Amino acid sequence: MIFNDKIKFIPQLRELLSSANNICIVTHANPDGDALGSSLGLYHLLKEHQKSIKVVIPDRVPDFLKWLPGSNEVIVAYDNKELMEMAMAEADLVFCLDFNQLNRVNGVTEALTKTPGKRILIDHHPEPDNDFFLGLSMTSSSSTAELIFEVCEELGLTKNLGKDAASCIYTGIMTDTGSFSYAIGRGRTFEVLAHLIDAGIEKDKIHSLVFDSFSEQRMRLMGYCLKDKMVVISQLRTAYISLSAAEIKLFNHKVGDTEGFVNLPLSISGIVFSVFFSERDGVIKMSLRSRGNFAVNDFAKKYYGGGGHRNAAGGKSLLPLQETIAQFEQYLKEYEAELTNA
Ligand code: 5GP
Ligand code: MN
Repeated sequence: MIFNDKIKFIPQLRELLSSANNICIVTHANPDGDALGSSLGLYHLLKEHQKSIKVVIPDRVPDFLKWLPGSNEVIVAYDNKELMEMAMAEADLVFCLDFNQLNRVNGVTEALTKTPGKRILIDHHPEPDNDFFLGLSMTSSSSTAELIFEVCEELGLTKNLGKDAASCIYTGIMTDTGSFSYAIGRGRTFEVLAHLIDAGIEKDKIHSLVFDSFSEQRMRLMGYCLKDKMVVISQLRTAYISLSAAEIKLFNHKVGDTEGFVNLPLSISGIVFSVFFSERDGVIKMSLRSRGNFAVNDFAKKYYGGGGHRNAAGGKSLLPLQETIAQFEQYLKEYEAELTNA
């Protein structure tokens, strides 16, 4: 059963936790700050109380998040499939954080489908699937990390909140809100942040570790994207950037290097819709962002088998890059009225 508030969720979770011996925490592919921040935050908070707790992620930790306390203890399915499968096979409970469809965990999907463990969803994306034993799905929360704090607070796990847990949770909220500039729809977010700051986190340092730790290659790739690759369609208040597999290789791209690029065109006055296309293993991964009312999750769901939030979503295209872009430009024309009024 999936709940959209904590009242019924917490007692059921408490009971499940009291009899669980082996717990796994899983998060989505290409993990971002909220995926890892919420997973490691929960890991630190539960570690003191549970016998065995493991964090499983589909892909490697991107460089800008490697400093997160506990990140070197996670099981990366891409590097260690056997260990991942063992962890999933032994689990009584599997926390599924920051995603709500089993196919969002790429290489872990099969093991997550087969696990004897009960799948517990904690997430802030709309429209969760029905593949969870118990869930808390709250779109009013800025981030999954914020929800992890609230859930753990109800469970009495945050009384002596440690710096490691607080730093991870802070990172999740900070990254999912663009450093507190969007996705905050309730004052509660700032109450949670107050607890984290009182736990002694070094908030300026965290900001710097996440946002000022990029490689020279990444900056040059960003420059190339802005100078040569950004297409602005002013009339439709849209801009997009695309990178082919060859371009990505040329700049010696590493996982996480293009994180945030999709937001760049939104700094242009009047632009309300931005898309970033990147070709990886023959698939075009798309990141979509908007300002205001234009719902990019609906757009991603309708055309690209994806989803996400109203202002931040993702999807995929199996067509070649140039065809994907041409098709996108066609789709876009149907939204002229919506984009003009967004
Ligand atoms: P990003 O562009 O950073 O990869 O993702 C933006 C948001 O959309 C995140 O909240 C992410 O979880 C969600 N998202 C990204 N790709 C997909 C996808 O293929 N399917 C769904 N349902 N959500 C996605
Ligand atoms: Mn999130």
